[in-house]
Amino acid sequence: MAAHDNPLIDLHTHSDRSDGTLAPAALVALAAARGVSLLALTDHDTMAGCDAARAACDTAGIRFIAGIELSTSWRGQAVHVVGLDVDAASPAIAAHADAIARRRRERVQAICERLAVRGRLPGREIAARALAGAAVPTRMHLARALLALGFATGTQDAFDRWLKPGRPGHVPVEWPALADTLARLGAACRATVLAHPHRYRLSGGALRQLTAEFTAAGGTALEVSLAGMSPNDHERIAALARSHGLAGSVGSDFHDPAVRWNPPGRFAKLADGITLVCECIAASR
Ligand code: AMP
Ligand code: MN
Ligand code: MN
Ligand code: MN
Repeated sequence: MAAHDNPLIDLHTHSDRSDGTLAPAALVALAAARGVSLLALTDHDTMAGCDAARAACDTAGIRFIAGIELSTSWRGQAVHVVGLDVDAASPAIAAHADAIARRRRERVQAICERLAVRGRLPGREIAARALAGAAVPTRMHLARALLALGFATGTQDAFDRWLKPGRPGHVPVEWPALADTLARLGAACRATVLAHPHRYRLSGGALRQLTAEFTAAGGTALEVSLAGMSPNDHERIAALARSHGLAGSVGSDFHDPAVRWNPPGRFAKLADGITLVCECIAASR
């Protein structure tokens, strides 16, 4: 069967406008080759790639949704919220994204200072490399800089050796609060999604509290089906969505074609009794 006989939806992808490796048009070309029929670009804290992705999707005959994955903090932990069908012209979103990008640049400097002091690494060189050409510098940019300069054997090794909590380059960061982010984003988009809920280091009770707060603040969906998710996690998150009356979102969280198990369009089968978030978007149009 040709890829196009089996149309796919992907509502969570990254381009090189944040920490992905492909330009938006190249991401769309890969998605088209794999038979994706509905694609959202959801870069971290920026919509800079959405115009180019939309143009490429128009050419390829793919339906496009402009999105963003915003960094928030909840009880001291980073929690990601994806906005779908976001108004890129919204001044509230632009100002919010600018403030996060500024915080991200300062954080790269702070991390590199720690790497220099505690890890005896060339902090300035690492910072320069991580910041070069990155409007929204993430820890993934730092991981790639550490790899390129020979201080790690891969990006995962860079996280494990230098960047994650307990390592020399760990710097805690406070993102805008979840509730504030939802208030701002909710007014400028058609659906908000709690991204990868199965990945947070939270007890079952805390995850239910997070979901309840997300629901009370007007959240639309949980990401119930993500590439690489275990069947157990998928069922657990689907049950959480059902019990809170939330829709479900599906996606790959694609970053890099070198990660071969996670191409655009890859996600687990959707559980029964879950409404796809794109149906909520279509209904509100
Ligand atoms: P951050 O700058 O903290 O938003 O992290 C940026 C990106 O780094 C995330 O979106 C992931 O793609 C990646 N990342 C974060 N933590 C890890 C980790 N422990 N191992 C591998 N990749 C990670
Ligand atoms: Mn990322
Ligand atoms: Mn995320
Ligand atoms: Mn993501």
